[in-house]
Amino acid sequence: MSPRGTAAPVVRGRAGVLREIGEPFSIEQVEMLPLDPARVLVRTHASPFCSTDVKNWSGKLFKVPPTILGHASIGEVVEVGSEVRGVTVGQRVVVPGTPECGRCYYCAIGEPWQCGELFDLGGVYPDVARGDDGAAISCAGCVGGYAEYMSASGNQVFPIESDLSSEVLSMLGCGITTGVGSVANVAEVAPGESVAIVGAGHVGLWMLQAARLAGAGTIVVVEPHAGRRAIAASLGADHLVDPDDTDAVEAVRDLTGGRGADVVLEAAGPTAAQRIAVRAARRGGRTVLTGFEVGTAELGLPQVETALQSRRILSSQNGQVHMRSDLQRYTGMLERGLLDPDPILTRTYALDELDLARDRSGSLDDVCGIIAFDY
Ligand SMILES: [Zn+2]
Ligand SMILES: [Zn+2]
Repeated sequence: MSPRGTAAPVVRGRAGVLREIGEPFSIEQVEMLPLDPARVLVRTHASPFCSTDVKNWSGKLFKVPPTILGHASIGEVVEVGSEVRGVTVGQRVVVPGTPECGRCYYCAIGEPWQCGELFDLGGVYPDVARGDDGAAISCAGCVGGYAEYMSASGNQVFPIESDLSSEVLSMLGCGITTGVGSVANVAEVAPGESVAIVGAGHVGLWMLQAARLAGAGTIVVVEPHAGRRAIAASLGADHLVDPDDTDAVEAVRDLTGGRGADVVLEAAGPTAAQRIAVRAARRGGRTVLTGFEVGTAELGLPQVETALQSRRILSSQNGQVHMRSDLQRYTGMLERGLLDPDPILTRTYALDELDLARDRSGSLDDVCGIIAFDY
C-alpha cells in the first residue's frame, strides 16, 4: 500500500453482493472506493454465515441492495485512514457487528453496545465499493464480511493477538460475544442457578458453555432440531426439550421444581420462542432476549405472568461486551479450552459457495458455517 499522502492504487477484490432480495448472491469483482480518512481497509480472512444474514438476504431486516452482507469478520489491516489511531498495517483485527466510537452518548455512559455510530444510522450504511455497472455498493451493518476486502470504521476494528485460526476467531464478533456476554454481563448467572436456553444454534451453544463455566445448576435446552439437541447434550446440557413435541414452558417448569428457571436465555428468534423464554422463567426470574424474527415483529405476553409475577426481561445486544477488553479475554478462554469451538464450527465455505452456506444456515443443518478466504 502507498504511504499516506500519495494516491493509493485502486483496490479490487471479489465480493458476494446481494443485488436482489431473495436471489442468489452475485459473486463479482468490485472496486473498493477510495478510503475515507476515518476508515480502515481490511483484507478478509473469515466471516461466519450468521442466521441474521439469512434474514438479511430474505429482506426481513430491510437491508437495501446492492449491499455486501456479513456482519462479523476477521482479517488483516492493509491500509489505515489518516484520522485513525491505534491500528497499523499488518495487524490482525476482529471486525465485529458493533463499533465503539468512544464519543457518542452511549459510549460515554459505558454502554458501547448501543454505539450511535451504528444505531443512529437508521439502517442506511456506508458505500464501500462499486461494481462494474458503476453503482455504489454498501456494507450491511457496516461490516460487509462476504468480500475479500472490507472498508470498516476505525472504531469497528479491534486488534487481536492469538495463534488460533481465523475461522475460529471470526466467531468472536457475533456468536461468542452475544452468547458469552449474555450469560456473564446481562444475566450474570450465579453458581447453582437453574438455566434454560431456548435455541441451540451458534449463539445458544456459546450460552450453554458460558453457563457451565458460570457454575449453573440444572441446564435445560429447548430446541426443535434433533442434531442441535445432540450437540447440546455433548456440551453438558442436563435436559433436552423438543418444543414441537411437548409444551416447553411446562417442561422447563417440571424440571425446575415446578417454578421455572432462575434464568432463561433466548437465542432463537421467533416470537413464539421468546414467549416461551419469558414464561419459562420462575416468578421474579430473568429472561435474556437476543433474537429477532422480522423487523416489524411484536411480542405478545400474558400480563399477569410478566407484570404481576415480577419476571424481568433483559435485552442483550452483542452480549453487552466492551470490545477493547472482552475480545482478548474471550480469545484467552478459547486458547485455554474453556470455550470449545469444534461443535459450533460446522464447516467452512469458499466465497463461491455463499448460497450453499446460506441454505444450510437457513435449514439449521449448519450450526455455524464460515466463509473462509484463501489467497
Ligand atoms: Zn450474527
Ligand atoms: Zn459510540
